[in-house]
Amino acid sequence: FGVPYEWVFVDGEFVPSEEARLSVLANVVSYGTGTFEGIRATWNEEHRQLYLLEAEAHYERMGRSARILGLELLFSPADLVALTRELLRRNQVRASAYIRPLLLLAGEQLAVRMHDSGSRLCIPATPMPGDYINPDGVRCMVSTWRRSRDTAVPNRAKVIGSYVGPALAKTEAIRNGFDEALLLTADGHVAEATTSNVLIRVGDEWATPPVTEDILEGITRRQIMDLLREDFGITVTQRRIHRSELYACDEALLCGTAAIAAPVTEVDGRRVGDGRPGATTLAVQRTLRAIARRDERRHHDWTTPVYDE
Ligand code: PMP
Repeated sequence: FGVPYEWVFVDGEFVPSEEARLSVLANVVSYGTGTFEGIRATWNEEHRQLYLLEAEAHYERMGRSARILGLELLFSPADLVALTRELLRRNQVRASAYIRPLLLLAGEQLAVRMHDSGSRLCIPATPMPGDYINPDGVRCMVSTWRRSRDTAVPNRAKVIGSYVGPALAKTEAIRNGFDEALLLTADGHVAEATTSNVLIRVGDEWATPPVTEDILEGITRRQIMDLLREDFGITVTQRRIHRSELYACDEALLCGTAAIAAPVTEVDGRRVGDGRPGATTLAVQRTLRAIARRDERRHHDWTTPVYDE
């Protein structure tokens, strides 16, 4: 991620980034009390246009995260999409970008609690890094760290503090020579990767863990299920997946706003399929990239132009 853009949306106004600052005593700094989103915007040079991808769905999810945490998001998803377009226009963004909405307990208040700590809504944006994860093949490790349970820290809400687990898992995977970590649920079933969901193919069956397996309900996951149905007539099964199925599957992919759709080529030293990226995965990756820059005739409703046409 590059240097953040100059203007940041903070609680109803646009301020220069040097004024968008938190106190070291902000509640969220000590306890991770808050929720966030990550939204992609893709620049299309031929169209001279920047497209937000599924921005409304991301803000709807943020609204649900806020409700789970007992926080209030004062703007509607549609208003937040409009504000995000305004933010990108003010920053004159003409390159692919990443938008990071944050709802934070920002008050200087060190008691451990969710109430009366002054929540703030901040929306910074940064240039989008090239590829967050290798789109040509990812070598994964099943982490020794597990997902938290819904009864501990609910993963349905994108809670800031809950990303310490995935961060530990990612570092463990990198230190062991892998690219990415796969986390199991507390019960030992496949949940997801550190910042992406997982789908596998066993023979003709495509499967992904259901939302009750302590995963984040990914927007890209939903898009891929739509595309597999439309393009290949495949209905993805949402079911519990065993760790050993990862070792024996014929194809696997990771999907998320940053990852898009990346083929998994290895898990814990076992090749996935023949060890080469799956053909279906690569096809879905191409289609998703085209949809994000509106170079595809379908699903224009998944993107929102930033500049007036
Ligand atoms: N799981 C986790 C834990 C994530 O952080 C993300 C990224 N938001 C995803 C899955 C993928 O979700 P989405 O497709 O909505 O980006």
